[in-house]
Amino acid sequence: MIATKGYAAQSAGAPLGSWNFDRREVGEHDVLFDILYCGVCHSDLHQVRNEWGNSIFPMVPGHEIVGRVKQVGSAVKRFKAGDLAGVGCLVDSCRTCENCKEGLEQYCLNGNTGTYNSIGRDGAPTYGGYSNQIVTHEDFVLHVSDKLPPEAVAPLLCAGITTYSPLRHWGIREGHKVAILGLGGLGHMGVKFASSFGAEVTVLSTSPSKEENARQLGAHKFTVTSDPEQLKAVTGYFDFILDTVSAEHDYSMYLSLLKTNGVHICVGAPPTPAQIHAFKLIGGRKSLAGSLIGGIPETQEMLDYCAEHNIVSDVEVIDIKDIDTAYERMLKGDVRYRFVIDMATL
Ligand code: NAP
Ligand code: ZN
Ligand code: ZN
Repeated sequence: MIATKGYAAQSAGAPLGSWNFDRREVGEHDVLFDILYCGVCHSDLHQVRNEWGNSIFPMVPGHEIVGRVKQVGSAVKRFKAGDLAGVGCLVDSCRTCENCKEGLEQYCLNGNTGTYNSIGRDGAPTYGGYSNQIVTHEDFVLHVSDKLPPEAVAPLLCAGITTYSPLRHWGIREGHKVAILGLGGLGHMGVKFASSFGAEVTVLSTSPSKEENARQLGAHKFTVTSDPEQLKAVTGYFDFILDTVSAEHDYSMYLSLLKTNGVHICVGAPPTPAQIHAFKLIGGRKSLAGSLIGGIPETQEMLDYCAEHNIVSDVEVIDIKDIDTAYERMLKGDVRYRFVIDMATL
């Protein structure tokens, strides 16, 4: 086994602290890499606090992982020691179901294996990127360009692909009016991708102080959702809403901002269920849809697109000892726009 240093929550809502554990030996198809940076996703906070009711403890969170390859198994051809590499939200899937065969491992019909808070196909719990190294099957390791700063690439592994994938799936392009609902880690990547794909982008936000920044990120318009006048001006306006909100909110209100045939795409995963009256969808033939991260081929496509178009996340690099404070700040919307842990501070 490989002795590994990590940072873990021992129970729901407990502060995180140092915790040592073992990773498996490098198998013939495995890649071992030293973790340089790991992004802090709101999903880490939901799961550390067991807000989705599916948490396994001790939990080493982290699924926005960038590092440098240290060792590869005898059969690995695509990576070598010294390469920059990434791991996102997935470390395994069945590989045989129709979704896996299509590169949609996130929708594996036999259950995907998450990078943490999951039980692997070997029966062992998985531990994430708040740690100094990780061993992952090569099929779930991504190539990371050395043209981009690695700390700003880390959030692409979840926040990036989670916004890129639905924008691609629904064919967002020039001529579309797209709203990005919530300007946090996911939202700011949604703005960058949607504007890069040519859409007219509006940020729908509860935080008036983010307006100037939103425009720098590529947004054309900014609407403060607590202001009824501003909301009225965008009623029936959007082709798509990409909803990244992490907390309870009124879906019905946002559905009224869609045009006929408009689509409200949920990627934010609030802990509580919502009530929606069917009339909100019926009147205007609207769709309420969802999307989960992205598969491995599309994640590589997104990373390559970012390298080509010089797209990265706006990050605030933190020490690992400040992770609990970072969670509190994230809850207040006080992050521009992603915390990333410098793993040298572990
Ligand atoms: P984040 O950085 O905390 O951003 C969430 C944003 O939502 C906030 O910045 C805030 O933006 C807005 N917001 C927060 N509370 C709100 C409320 N009560 N009403 C309206 N807006 C509110 O979180 P994140 O890391 O981007 O993650 C967002 C959500 O996506 C989380 O639920 C996370 O678990 C989920 N997620 C899903 C997937 C997937 O595959 N579907 C992948 C990753 C994450 P403003 O200040 O602009 O209002
Ligand atoms: Zn995430
Ligand atoms: Zn499968």
